[in-house]
Amino acid sequence: MPEAILEVTDLVKHYPLTQGILFRKQVGAVRAVDGVSFTLGAGETLGIVGESGCGKSTVAKLLVSLERPTAGSLKYKGEDITRLSGRALKAVRRNIQMVFQDPYTSLNPRMTVGDIIGEPYEIHPEAAPKGDRRRRVQELLDVVGLNPEYVNRYPHQFSGGQRQRIGIARGLALRPEVIVADEPVSALDVSVQAQVVNLLERLQAEFDLSYVFIAHDLSIVRHISDRVAVMYLGRIVELGTDAQIYEHPTHPYTQALLSAVPVPDPAARAHRDRIILTGDVPSPANPPSGCRFRTRCWKAQPRCATEVPLLAVPEAFRLNTGPTAHPSACHFAAEKQVVPPEGELQPPPGPPPTASPPGGKAR
Ligand code: ADP
Ligand code: MG
Repeated sequence: MPEAILEVTDLVKHYPLTQGILFRKQVGAVRAVDGVSFTLGAGETLGIVGESGCGKSTVAKLLVSLERPTAGSLKYKGEDITRLSGRALKAVRRNIQMVFQDPYTSLNPRMTVGDIIGEPYEIHPEAAPKGDRRRRVQELLDVVGLNPEYVNRYPHQFSGGQRQRIGIARGLALRPEVIVADEPVSALDVSVQAQVVNLLERLQAEFDLSYVFIAHDLSIVRHISDRVAVMYLGRIVELGTDAQIYEHPTHPYTQALLSAVPVPDPAARAHRDRIILTGDVPSPANPPSGCRFRTRCWKAQPRCATEVPLLAVPEAFRLNTGPTAHPSACHFAAEKQVVPPEGELQPPPGPPPTASPPGGKAR
C-alpha cells in the first residue's frame, strides 16, 4: 500500500431542507454523503461509481474543499484540512484540483482559452510569475495535445473532447498532486471518451498524479482505476481492487450494476445472469433504515432493516486472502448465491417485494 495522500474518515455532508417564509425553517436534511471513508495512495487511481444522485459529486466537492463537510475528517498527507481556513486552506487547495463533468458548461464562453487555463494563477499568483504565465499556458496546451497557438481562441471553437482537454489543462496549471475528475468523459461521444481517458493516464505518469476518477459507468472506471468504490445513497457499499470488484463482487448492488454492463463476447454473455433492479432509488432525505439498499435487494432479510451493515471484510472471509476478501457493506456478502433465484429476476411492478420485513415499517 503506497503512502496515503488523502485519508477520508466518516465524511458527512447534509444539505438542509428548508420551508416557510424565506426558507428559514429547516424541515430535514438531504443526506448527500452519509459516512464515507477511504484512502487514496500516492500515484493511485481510485474509481468511484454509482447511480446519479448517490453523492459522487458531493464527495468530489468535499475533496477539493468546494464544500465544507457536516462531519468527518479529510486528511491531506496526514493533516486534517477540514479544520483549516484562510491562507492555510488555500495552500492545500492548490494541490487538490478538480476536472469537471461537462466541458460545455464549465468553461466561461466569454474567456479565451488562455485566460481559462491561466485563471488559477490569478487565484494563486505565487504559482507563476506574471511574465511567465502565457508561456506556461501554451506549454499546458501542448501537454494536453492541443496546438499552443489556440491560446486566443474561445471555447465554442473547440469540440467536446478538446474542451475537456482545456479543462484538464486548467486543472494541471497549479501542478497539483491530486486530481478529482468528476465524470470527466460522461458528456463526451463514446468515440472520444477513450482518448480523454488515455490522456489522463499519460498525464498521471508524467506528473506523478493521484486520481479520484468518478463515473456512473463501471466499464470506464475499470480501465483507469487501481481500486474502485461503489456508492449507493450516500455511502460506499463495496471497495476493492479491479479484480475484486469486477470478478468477485460480493455486494448485491455491485452485482446488479455489473450485470447491466454490456459484455461483448456472446459466449460469456450467455453465462451471465442479468439482474434487473426494480424500484427507484429512495430519497436521500429519508433513506431506509438499516441497509439502504434493502428496498431493492433480493437477499434482504428482517435483519437488514434494523442493522446497518458496515463496510468491512466479511467475517467468513477474514482468514482468507482470496479476491472475495475485501470490504463489502452487506450482511450476506459471504453467501455464495450471487443471482436472484429463478422467477425473482424481474419482480412484479409496484412496491419492491422485499422492501418490508415482517412487522417492519414499509418506507
Ligand atoms: P451524484 O453526483 O452522484 O449524481 P450528487 O452528489 O450531485 O450526486 O447529489 C447527491 C444528493 O444530494 C442528490 O439527492 C442531490 O439532489 C443532493 N444535493 C446535491 N447538492 C445539493 C445542494 N447544494 N443542496 C441540496 N441538495 C443537494
Ligand atoms: Mg454528479
